[in-house]
Amino acid sequence: MKRLVVLGGGESGVGTALLGKAKGYQVFVSDFGKIKENYKNVLKHHEIEWEDGGHTEANILNADVVMKSPGIPDKAPIVKQLKANGVKIVSELEFASQFTNATIIGITGSNGKTTTATLTHHILKQELNVGLSGNIGDSFAKQILDYNYPNYVLEISSFQLDDIEHFRPHIAVITNITPDHLDRYDYKFENYIASKFRIAMNQTAQDYLIYDADDEVIEVWLKAHPVQSTLLPFSLKKDLENGACIENENIKITIDNNQITMPVKDISLQGNHNIKNAMAASTVAHLLKIRKQTIRESLENFQGVEHRLEQVLKINKVNYINDSKATNVNATYYALESMDAPTVWIVGGQDKGNDYRELYPFVNEKVKAIICLGVDNSKIIDAFNGMVDVMVETQFMSEAVKIAYKIAEPGDNVLLSPACASFDLFENYEDRGRQFKQAVRNL
Ligand code: ADP
Repeated sequence: MKRLVVLGGGESGVGTALLGKAKGYQVFVSDFGKIKENYKNVLKHHEIEWEDGGHTEANILNADVVMKSPGIPDKAPIVKQLKANGVKIVSELEFASQFTNATIIGITGSNGKTTTATLTHHILKQELNVGLSGNIGDSFAKQILDYNYPNYVLEISSFQLDDIEHFRPHIAVITNITPDHLDRYDYKFENYIASKFRIAMNQTAQDYLIYDADDEVIEVWLKAHPVQSTLLPFSLKKDLENGACIENENIKITIDNNQITMPVKDISLQGNHNIKNAMAASTVAHLLKIRKQTIRESLENFQGVEHRLEQVLKINKVNYINDSKATNVNATYYALESMDAPTVWIVGGQDKGNDYRELYPFVNEKVKAIICLGVDNSKIIDAFNGMVDVMVETQFMSEAVKIAYKIAEPGDNVLLSPACASFDLFENYEDRGRQFKQAVRNL
C-alpha cells in the first residue's frame, strides 16, 4: 500500500485525504497548527489518521508522496526535510487530477480569478455538466470523489501551481500579473511570473492559453518564454484577429474565423477590468461551443461575486459599494477607475509594500474624501496628503461608514476598496466586507 502524507488539514488537505483513501492509499494528515473541528470530524468519520499542533517526522518522512497544502511555504522546516530526503511533493491539483478525465479550465492571475472563474462557470453550466472548484467552495479532490463532473472550472493560485508535474488544463486563463505574494517568491517578481505560467507548462498545441494582451508583463514574458499552447489573447486596446477585442463598443471574439459579438453596455458587471473578465470567460465558452445567445444572456444576468465591487444600498441617493476583496493596489485601481461620480473612499489596512502613485490621477479626479481604516495609516496619509479636501482616520468600520454618510452628498459614491490586507482589524476580507454592509444597513 502506498503511503500518502497530507500536510495541512484544511479544505484541500482533507479533500485530498478522502480521495487518497478512496483510491487505496494509506493516509496520514499532519498540521502544524490547529485543524478545525469540522475537518477533524470528517477525518475521524473516515478513519483517517491525523495529528495537529506539530509534525511527527517519523510518520511523515516515510511517505511515498506528500501533498502540501498551498498555504505552507517551501521554507517550512518539514518541507525542507522532505526535499532533502527526496520525497515527492505535489499540490492538490496534481494529486487529484490523475483521477479524472474531465476537461479542465484553469484560471489564474493576480486579480480577477474568482470573478472570472465564477462567471465562466455561470455561462458553461447553462449547457454543460460542470463543477466549480480550486480556491472556491469544496476542494477539487473532494469534488472528483463526490461528483466526478466531466468538466471543471478551477480557480488556481500560484501556490497550487508550484507543485504540479503533469497537471494540464485544456484551457488556461491568465487574467493579469502584478506583484503580489512576493514573500513566497524570494521577493523576485520573475519567480512569481514563472509560477503563474506553469499553468501552461504541460499544454500542447491542442490546448489553449487565454491571456490579457494589454498586460506588458505577460506580453514580455511570452516573447522570452514561448509556450506550446494555442494563444487566444484578449485586449481593450488592440485590434486582434484571433481572440477577443473591442470593435464599435462591442466585444468581438474570433476563434478560427467563427465570430461572436455582444454590446459592452449589456454586460451586467461594471468596470473595465470586468470587461476583460467577461472577454476571458466568453472566450472559454466560445471554445467549448456554448451557443452565442446563451453567452450573451449569461453576461447580462450575472449577479457578480460578493465583496467585489458589490452594490450594497442606495441611501439618500448615495451609492454604497463593497470592494473589500481589493487587497492590493491594482484591484483598487480598477475600482476607482470605474467610479462614475464623486467618491468618498474608505481605504487602508495591512500594507503589503504598496506603491500608491498609480492611483493619483483617479484620486485627483474623483475622490472627495479619504477615510483611513487601519491600525497604521501613515503611508496612506503621506501618499495622499493635500490631494483631497477631507482626510480622516478611524479604526472602526461603523465609524468609517458614519463619517462617509456625513460627507457624501446626493449622487456621490461611498466606496470601500482598501488596497490592503484586512488582518490588522478584521478576521479576513469577508469579515471586513460584511461589517461594512452591516454598518451601511444600520445607517
Ligand atoms: P482574485 O480571486 O484573483 O483575488 P477577484 O475576482 O476575487 O480576484 O477580485 C479581487 C479584486 O480585484 C476585487 O477588488 C475585484 O474588483 C478586482 N478585480 C477583478 N477582476 C480584475 C481584473 N481583471 N483586474 C484587476 N482587478 C480585478
